[in-house]
Amino acid sequence: SDTNKKLGLAMVGLGKYSTGQLIPAIIQSESFSLKGIVTGSEDKAQEYSTKYDIPEKNIYNYENFDLIKDNPDIDIVYIALPNSMHEEYVIRAALAGKHVITEKPMATSVKQCERMINACKNANVELFVGYRLHFEPHHLEAMKLGQTKAKGKLKKIIGSFGFKIEDNGQWRLKKDLAGGGSLVDVGIYVIQAARYVVGQNPIAVKNVKIENKIFDRPSEVDGDVTWEMEFPDGVIAFCSSSYTKESDKLFIEAEKGWIEISPAYYYYGLKGATEQGTLKMKRINQQKAQMEGIADTIINGIHNRASGIDGLIDIQIIEAIYKSAKTGERVTL
Ligand code: NDP
Repeated sequence: SDTNKKLGLAMVGLGKYSTGQLIPAIIQSESFSLKGIVTGSEDKAQEYSTKYDIPEKNIYNYENFDLIKDNPDIDIVYIALPNSMHEEYVIRAALAGKHVITEKPMATSVKQCERMINACKNANVELFVGYRLHFEPHHLEAMKLGQTKAKGKLKKIIGSFGFKIEDNGQWRLKKDLAGGGSLVDVGIYVIQAARYVVGQNPIAVKNVKIENKIFDRPSEVDGDVTWEMEFPDGVIAFCSSSYTKESDKLFIEAEKGWIEISPAYYYYGLKGATEQGTLKMKRINQQKAQMEGIADTIINGIHNRASGIDGLIDIQIIEAIYKSAKTGERVTL
């Protein structure tokens, strides 16, 4: 049947993003079929196996997950767990011989990223990071503008992403599970955007300010962060992330024009404009587009647009930003 040609995917962690966005996109995808689930919750195992017609033999928990290596239904594993758990589950997936997608941030340290990349390389499996905006039309347009210098040389980039965090008990506010605060959670989108618009990596970070409180409450993780990234040729990105304020914007100024996307990083409702007026772009399901792009890499060998190396570079930049905040000095990369 048709489904047999699709790549079999197992979702690891049935939380908000995987059940609300990823699984519905995978169900619609032409290339993947949801064949397995991995969860610590017996109730969710019941609920989602019924909802998506997943056989008992394809339901795993965190203890018996490694048995997935003997399951020919599963070609690829999608890790949607709290940040500090990504490393362990990517490595276990690689050792099971499965391709693997991990959510962003890739991990909570550069060392972890390196171990993940090595494990996938040694197992000869592909590693992807869930950077959905690499497949989004407004962002593809911004990348093209920046990288081809269509409006002249780039001058500056301004990016911000923030929201008011709720639920004080959640893992995002726990240092050991999240690795950091708004910077690693949403600031990473701004880092990514600046990198793919310029088409190069920053050479330094500077002028970092971090609030180690959220709505006046002391916090284990950073609440609001502002930072600057210096790129080659003098391009500067002025960036911010927040857990206390709504913001969602990417602005790119070149010698002969500009482009703005706002909202820029949310799942839908993106709006774009340039010096010539409204930017009319196709509306797409970002997660579905991401999945089709991933399939293209696995099936057709097309370049992996959001690889482990890409994820690692963002964590290197994040570590430099935290270092700069501590020392007050410009940190070179
Ligand atoms: P949730 O808290 O909603 O889900 C996380 C799931 O992980 C839980 O439901 C649980 O699944 C499992 N889990 C296992 N151990 C723990 C633990 N100790 N504490 C909490 N959960 C645990 O998080 P999100 O879905 O919002 O985020 C998951 C990942 O996806 C993060 O890395 C996040 O950064 C990323 N994300 C990416 C987005 C994007 O746009 N690309 C958007 C939102 C999140 P179970 O009960 O099945 O075991």
